[in-house]
Amino acid sequence: MSLASSSISALRKQLAAREITAVDIVDELAAAIAARDLRIGAYLSHDLADARAAAAAADLGLPLGGIPIALKDNINALGQPCTCGSRFLATGYTAPYDATVTARLRAAGAIPFGRTNLDEFAMGSATENSALQVTRNPHDLTRIPGGSSGGSAAAVAADLSIAALGSDTGGSIRQPASHCGVVGLKPSYGRVSRYGLVAFASSLDQIGPLTKSVEDAALLLQAIAGADPRDSTCLDVPVPDYSAELEKGVAGLRIGIPKEYFGEGIDPAVRALVEQAAQRLQAAGAELVDISLPHTEHAVATYYIIAPAEASSNLSRFDGIRYGKRADAPADLLDLYRRSREEGFGPEVKRRIILGTYVLSSGYYDAYYSRAQKVRTLIRRDFENAFQQVDAILTPVAPTPARKIGEFSDDPLHEYLSDIFTLAANLAGICAISVPCGSVPAESGSPLPVGVQILAPHLAEATLLRVARAAEL
Ligand code: GLN
Repeated sequence: MSLASSSISALRKQLAAREITAVDIVDELAAAIAARDLRIGAYLSHDLADARAAAAAADLGLPLGGIPIALKDNINALGQPCTCGSRFLATGYTAPYDATVTARLRAAGAIPFGRTNLDEFAMGSATENSALQVTRNPHDLTRIPGGSSGGSAAAVAADLSIAALGSDTGGSIRQPASHCGVVGLKPSYGRVSRYGLVAFASSLDQIGPLTKSVEDAALLLQAIAGADPRDSTCLDVPVPDYSAELEKGVAGLRIGIPKEYFGEGIDPAVRALVEQAAQRLQAAGAELVDISLPHTEHAVATYYIIAPAEASSNLSRFDGIRYGKRADAPADLLDLYRRSREEGFGPEVKRRIILGTYVLSSGYYDAYYSRAQKVRTLIRRDFENAFQQVDAILTPVAPTPARKIGEFSDDPLHEYLSDIFTLAANLAGICAISVPCGSVPAESGSPLPVGVQILAPHLAEATLLRVARAAEL
């Protein structure tokens, strides 16, 4: 097996036995990127000299010692670009500091290597909203990798990366993981620091791992989780030993199957694979329980009020003065603001800013924003009630496998509806993971991977990973 296709845990063993060096891994990844990323487009940039120097100095005794990890290009790493897939930041902006997750990766011995493509400011589900390049699904180059962490998912799936970090506001780790056939974990809100993640919707955003195995997801989460004085929403609670619980199995656990997630609109082949995953858990000793999450149908509308509202506020910092792009020869200050934003942001980002500003404006705030907050509470309570009866919940990740590039890029509503199964976890703040559960034949080309989603209560990542491990093929 090539080094680039190995898991973190396999590489750790080879490194410990001195069969390979960390520089070997970086070099092999760099060769794979040079050979194949021109077609896939997972990376926006990478700094080989920097990574080789870090690899040469890596402390192999540390938990992730010598392991290169790719970062979604909205997570700051000192001295590296952080474009957010936007023209706004693609003009020479480099990060003046490390995000907490980046610093923690370094402290665990890992080597941040490579910046992965994303939908502009993480707004999208296909990586087609990147203003900078197209990323293709490694399983079928005519299809999307999913998004917004499409570059991270494609890099891991194509063996251009050992593992990567992404961000998930409404599904952006889980959905591309599902489409590319890798594991993607969205931690509970407050489990991982958001300091140094460029904010999209601050009450929903979480950083998490995209990996080749559930075991690797546990290792990576372990390294990045835990309290951070720089993010007041990051919780000061103990972080369990995730790897220790992984093999405990699911005997005696109760797994909820919510009827609202198996209805209309879901591709029958996807549904069959998700049901098979449920049966595997049952065969391993779990009890399947029919449950209801009655407010599910309102999740899309609620999310597409709250997320744009928060985005419109967060993105006001991009004014042409403080960061990145600045319009040439402005007539006056207002013209400078206006044209910098007009030229810097792409159409989806503008749409969200306009929507968000509208729902927050006086007269509409009560009708939209504050009502959405109330519905959000109802969605959270649905999960609280369900978790009185069950230890975890099993659902599809996305209603269909990866679609073709460009298939409905001029229909944002259709795109928003494809987030239907992933948004609620962010609204409720609970943890969720996508685990590959098979592939479906495509009418042309190779079979397309499908993921199953497992959800667990707030801060119950140990249970989540344990169930995911048992569901893993
Ligand atoms: N697809 C969703 C959106 O466009 C979620 C994106 C995300 O999780 N960053 O808002």
